[in-house]
Amino acid sequence: MKVGIVGAGMVGSAAGYALALQGTASRIVFVDRSEKLALAQAQDIAHAVPFASATQVDAGGYDALTGAGIVILAAGVSQKPGETRLELLGRNAVVFREVIGAVRAQAPEAILLVATNPVDIMTQISVALSGLPPERVIGSGTILDTARFRSLLGRHLGIAPRSVHAYVLGEHGDSEVLAWTSARVGSVPLMSFAAQIGAPITAEIRDRIDDGVRNAAYTIIDGKGATWYGIGAGLARIVAAIAADEQAVLSVSVMTPEIGAVKDVALSLPRIVGARGAAASLMPDLSPDEATALERSARLLKTTADAVAF
Ligand code: ADP
Repeated sequence: MKVGIVGAGMVGSAAGYALALQGTASRIVFVDRSEKLALAQAQDIAHAVPFASATQVDAGGYDALTGAGIVILAAGVSQKPGETRLELLGRNAVVFREVIGAVRAQAPEAILLVATNPVDIMTQISVALSGLPPERVIGSGTILDTARFRSLLGRHLGIAPRSVHAYVLGEHGDSEVLAWTSARVGSVPLMSFAAQIGAPITAEIRDRIDDGVRNAAYTIIDGKGATWYGIGAGLARIVAAIAADEQAVLSVSVMTPEIGAVKDVALSLPRIVGARGAAASLMPDLSPDEATALERSARLLKTTADAVAF
């Protein structure tokens, strides 16, 4: 499958690098406002390919996206001094108006995979701008938060994260909800598993894991200015699920008709992801507290999405 990446910055290039090393895409094409940057990223990644796969990596204008099955949207502008979050969002919405118009003209069949933050709001905006059915506009959402949750649980239990089934729901951000109640290891409920192997999840451990998942990005940003490898690999995972029509269950952000009293909001739930996009959604069993927190997260996102001018 040919995969387009619009926005060849840190996140876009990390996604391209992960895809190229895994050989998931037959072709990758970078497009950026800076043609020089797009070409440099394409060439640098192309030089890694002989060690790993047969992916062809190029850069070009929007016309180079013709025939792409997926286009990753990682373009965006960064915050100006004194600018509010909402003003920044407005400017990124303007970027997306231009980008989505150009992508749709060249690759009308492509599934849009949104990576630009705040990803849930940008996903909601992308659905409105593209006119595509909601299942064909997927935000990376909490795919990475879910991976961090599984990784920290796995480390505490001494179990491979891939054997941990636990999801982070709602916003990719401060209001996200760690779904503890529905978490399982293998087929065993998490708390029971933890007790059986003598590694109980005390309130203190729970708080530590919650904090580690919720605040991981802040720690990384403090150390290196931004995050890109984790999200790059997460984007590559979503592309793989679509390209191979896996019907994989992944926590990604998609327009959701109803969360409690909140209607039509993009947020993350476990979704079934394959060639048609995110075709179906699953609602894990939640405790009353978790359900309330998810509705709160949905309301926060909806309020922000309604306030953005685009
Ligand atoms: P991140 O860390 O999220 O990847 P970057 O600033 O590194 O952020 O990358 C964002 C990229 O988006 C930049 O390379 C920038 O040139 C690109 N970009 C910004 N606006 C547009 C646009 N209108 N069209 C295409 N690319 C754009």
